[in-house]
Amino acid sequence: KAPLLEVSGLSVDYGLKGVSSRAIDSVSFALRAGEAVGLVGESGSGKTTTAMAIAGLLSPNARVSGGQVCYRGNRLPIEDDAAMRPHRWSETSVVFQGAMNALNPVHRIIKQIAEPCMLKLGMPRGEATARAGELLELVGIPADRGAAYPHELSGGMRQRVMIAMALACRPSIIIGDEPTTALDVITQAQILKLLGELRSQLNLALILITHDLSVVAESCDRVMIMYAGRIVEDGTVAEIFAKPKHPYTRLLIDSIPNPANGKKMIRPIPGDPPNLVNRPSGCAFHPRCPSAMGLCATDVPSFDKFGRSRVACHLHRSSQEDKVAAHA
Ligand code: SF4
Repeated sequence: KAPLLEVSGLSVDYGLKGVSSRAIDSVSFALRAGEAVGLVGESGSGKTTTAMAIAGLLSPNARVSGGQVCYRGNRLPIEDDAAMRPHRWSETSVVFQGAMNALNPVHRIIKQIAEPCMLKLGMPRGEATARAGELLELVGIPADRGAAYPHELSGGMRQRVMIAMALACRPSIIIGDEPTTALDVITQAQILKLLGELRSQLNLALILITHDLSVVAESCDRVMIMYAGRIVEDGTVAEIFAKPKHPYTRLLIDSIPNPANGKKMIRPIPGDPPNLVNRPSGCAFHPRCPSAMGLCATDVPSFDKFGRSRVACHLHRSSQEDKVAAHA
């Protein structure tokens, strides 16, 4: 049986003033119905480009230079905005960060939720408004609050409205692009809990994009760590947190504050994220990697499978000893 979503060898380039840079490079993964996957990395790692490509929302200066995205076994026309319209919101929906910018300030929220039901599902206004009320209840907002304008709601409530809008056309996949970034810690936890509940209630697959690894710990089954446009580690949440293989994953975990052991502050990872126009040779992480060896500066590590997990690092290759010997 084909997975719900299959991304194979996907590469996307951005062109700016005649200069092209590769934002994502040979990204491959599959997503099953009802599965929750976290896509984690620093800004510029390619996580948002991956998600926008899947939703057919790439910016006009982006070009798909390789690979494909299949939904239920059928290739999606991800570069063709008009051809993607029947799919977007009906099969794959996006919850963006910063709901205040995404909502229309002059329309009542009930109208904004009813609109996709009318446009996409062809519902008459009365039916769409009734469905919008049900969707509000589903995300924990009393239906009679539907008359409110966005500025009359708290940040957490607005994000709930965004989730209701994303669910309006009964999609199978929800992409959350840093959906809790602008919220305080308690509201963040409530929104993540809501997404988890909706996921099991509606059998939704969830792709959660975040720079914060701790966000995925509670809400996801699997984590994919991205660096410089590539997935560098992919495994279950339990595996990644208990036994991270990639040095970058290890540093990401170490950077999470943990008051229980006296680590109160986020410890930033030393060095800067790479410049994608001038990408480091070999393993792109080598200038920042505490475990870098000679071959790391010259050889791109392959993305190897270890049981159910995958990692791209010369420290974890069956033929690693030969390669190290050859470069000694
Ligand atoms: Fe570090 Fe080398 Fe592994 Fe890259 S391949 S993460 S530089 S050890």
